[in-house]
Amino acid sequence: MTASNRQYDMEDIMTRAATYRDADAMRGVLRRIHDAVTRQWNIMEVCGGQTFTLSRYRLEELLPEKITMIHGPGCPVCVTPVETIDRAIDIAMHPDVTFCSFGDMLRVPGSEAALLQAKARGADVQILYSPLEALKMAIDRPDRQIVFFAIGFETTAPIYALLAQKAVGMGIGNFSLLTSLFTVPAAVEAIKLDDQCRVDALLAAGHVCAITGTAEYESLSRELGIPIVITGFEPVDMLYGISKAVDALESSRIGVVNAYGRAVRAEGNRAAKKSIDEVFEHYDARWRGIGVIKHSGLTLRRKFEHLDATRRFKFSHTSSHECNGCIAAKIMKGLSLPADCPHFATDCTPQSPVGAPMVSSEGVCAAHYKYNRFQP
Ligand code: SF4
Repeated sequence: MTASNRQYDMEDIMTRAATYRDADAMRGVLRRIHDAVTRQWNIMEVCGGQTFTLSRYRLEELLPEKITMIHGPGCPVCVTPVETIDRAIDIAMHPDVTFCSFGDMLRVPGSEAALLQAKARGADVQILYSPLEALKMAIDRPDRQIVFFAIGFETTAPIYALLAQKAVGMGIGNFSLLTSLFTVPAAVEAIKLDDQCRVDALLAAGHVCAITGTAEYESLSRELGIPIVITGFEPVDMLYGISKAVDALESSRIGVVNAYGRAVRAEGNRAAKKSIDEVFEHYDARWRGIGVIKHSGLTLRRKFEHLDATRRFKFSHTSSHECNGCIAAKIMKGLSLPADCPHFATDCTPQSPVGAPMVSSEGVCAAHYKYNRFQP
């Protein structure tokens, strides 16, 4: 893409770009980025949805060579630990259990197999599009134990909180949750504080901030000494976020910039935050490939712990292990790219994933594979 010669104003572009995929708007923001950058900067996009946009629209190829994008840990399918996948399979194999999940999770490899193989061996595994369907199933099938695989970040936690509150309120005894819930700021902090980390600025996930608000990111920005730009998911959003990050870096400014004002308010979504807080509490969670990060997970509070599937079902697995050679952790820290992995596009493909980032469209390996980022 060549930069347009027309005059542009970024804020104006963001109000005019009706679809946020407008080519003129993209050219205008790109020109602004090219004009502003003077030195090498490493910018991490946190969210898998943002990684997907970068790959799908091949935006990195349009950026100045001095800007390197680092693909962060914000894909829930990718960071669910292998132990949790093993537990999910164990639970699903109980004869009286109907195990419900979003479709992507069925192909995520555990130590020996994925949920899809458990289903092939006879487990009752159902793909649902809404977690609320699981509650209806529990009401309709009192003879079955209904377990929902509750994965995600602050974006999906409110719906699980609602499920838990409804299950308790309606006295539904045959429903439980296998949770794998994470919070973004703690993970970002852990990655940034890693000695090998080379992140200069962060693009925070707009949909997460729509729930949480911006206060947590203000203190994180000060603590880490980097600018954080709250960014959306369309191509123009992504370029706008990168442009704001470059502006902040070039003028040595830290702090939070909200480049997704059409969805994010400083206070966030108070009702959603209240629900999360009523049902969940923080704990030190294990992230797949990264390890344990303090205070980075959400687990059910005592009042709701009878809904915790890990308390309701016994496990046969004694030890879980990662697949050999998956370099997902190095990719999430910006130290490697998917094409550096010996499995990439050989024995690891979306049809036959070896590691979790090859499963979901938000996984960086799947995004690079799908949009041919490994080809010259
Ligand atoms: S290509 Fe496969 S094995 Fe390699 S890092 Fe990606 S998911 Fe892991």
